[in-house]
Amino acid sequence: MRVVIAMMEHETNTFSPVPTPLARFARGRDTPPEGPEVLAAYRRTGSGIGGMIDTAEKWGAEIVAPIAANAWPSGPVEDEAYRYITDRIAEAVDKGCDAVLLDLHGAMVTRALDDGEGALLARLRRIAPGIPIGVSLDMHTNLYPEMVENATVIAGYQTYPHIDQHRTGVRAAEAIFRMLDGKANPVMVWGNRPMLPHVMRQGSEFGPNKLLQDRCIAMEEEGALAASLFVGFPHADISLAGLSSVIVTDGDRARAEAWRDELLDQAWKSREAFVYRIEPLEQSLARAKQVSEGPVILLDHYDNAASGGTMDTMTVLKGILDAGLENVAAFAIHDPDAVAEMMRAGIGAEVTLPLGGKIDMPSIGMKGEPLVVSGRVRLISDGRYRNIGPASVGVLMDMGPSVVLDTGKVEIVVISRHQEPNDLGCLLSLGIDPRQRRFVMLKSRVHWRAGFAPIMKDVIECAGTGVCTSDYSMLKFRKVRRPIYPLDLINDPAP
Ligand SMILES: [Zn+2]
Repeated sequence: MRVVIAMMEHETNTFSPVPTPLARFARGRDTPPEGPEVLAAYRRTGSGIGGMIDTAEKWGAEIVAPIAANAWPSGPVEDEAYRYITDRIAEAVDKGCDAVLLDLHGAMVTRALDDGEGALLARLRRIAPGIPIGVSLDMHTNLYPEMVENATVIAGYQTYPHIDQHRTGVRAAEAIFRMLDGKANPVMVWGNRPMLPHVMRQGSEFGPNKLLQDRCIAMEEEGALAASLFVGFPHADISLAGLSSVIVTDGDRARAEAWRDELLDQAWKSREAFVYRIEPLEQSLARAKQVSEGPVILLDHYDNAASGGTMDTMTVLKGILDAGLENVAAFAIHDPDAVAEMMRAGIGAEVTLPLGGKIDMPSIGMKGEPLVVSGRVRLISDGRYRNIGPASVGVLMDMGPSVVLDTGKVEIVVISRHQEPNDLGCLLSLGIDPRQRRFVMLKSRVHWRAGFAPIMKDVIECAGTGVCTSDYSMLKFRKVRRPIYPLDLINDPAP
């Protein structure tokens, strides 16, 4: 039994000015890992493709792993990069196999396509019409019919922060292997509702999404092969951005449809609970000044790497410096030029330099604004570490050359490649123990909870600037279907 296993993951923020060439999927190399390198990098790691590889090995399958391409969210994927990745996968399927397992994101927009995953799956379906195709998707999938029509089984994450990526890969793969073994007959249905849940309200640890994801898990205990509720990714101006659901049952279409409708109806009823209310930054920082005990997370939620932020807007960090907060660690400012300058200056050097603000953000009408900062170069690192968990356990992270700049009150981490702070390793690997800090500024929205929630005393959400803005009125939507809640305050899901 021969199985093609591959990864192609990108969440596209169509408002992001950060480019997405092939190199972004390669993380410091020229091209992403291919062949045996894929197995070496992901086997027994907490990733979706890791779950697929481990399951295939358990079933004794021969694995062909053409490519594992994964990039931090950013602007539309360059067509050349999309072609390179999808050609590798299509060529492997064309050589012949018994099944295909794909670790996809489900919100990939390319220069030419609004639904990158659907086009890939349709191409594979044309090459191998009867082949079982199992797909794992991120909870931030913006689902298109072409994805469902050309896959056999789809399983989505049931946690945000995403700490069940491996389990999701296993869920998708197990259903396919049971099918190949003649023990399952997957039937898949899908649907959506015209709503854009706010990312800051999408966490699965509490609130409306906890109830929805708990229900998905219960449906699988009740016999669904896979039950998924996708909250969607709103920073994508494409027609089908938003909330959707896919249910896979063993041969029972009516039950699949009933479960799908139950989830979608419950989500629609919760639409107001998915709306986020913004606190002005001055108020947030005034509250921070009253804090007596840390660590308190200062969340710079308009500019995170895991949603396509430039990760170099300086508004919140400037506010922290101006407010005179002390014993602060800040993660992180993406600024390769500043890193290079501080590396030339060397450890211990006192430097004054313009930091961040190097990238303009035309989609929200803002220019990049660097902030002149003075401090001492405390540490220089290659920026590599393995995730401690619970997110992506064991996966190698690579922030590129990185520097800790110490202003005396704030230790600012400056990195050369984007990195979401979802794991304590991002600070521990640079000699900063966040448990010893009164404040930890993180450029994140929900993913920080995976690593940092267990150690924090409180969190203060800080409205800064950036293309992951929590103020959706700053985003000019042209292509998303209308009406859609809450851009339009509709109360009928099918007006
Ligand atoms: Zn996601």
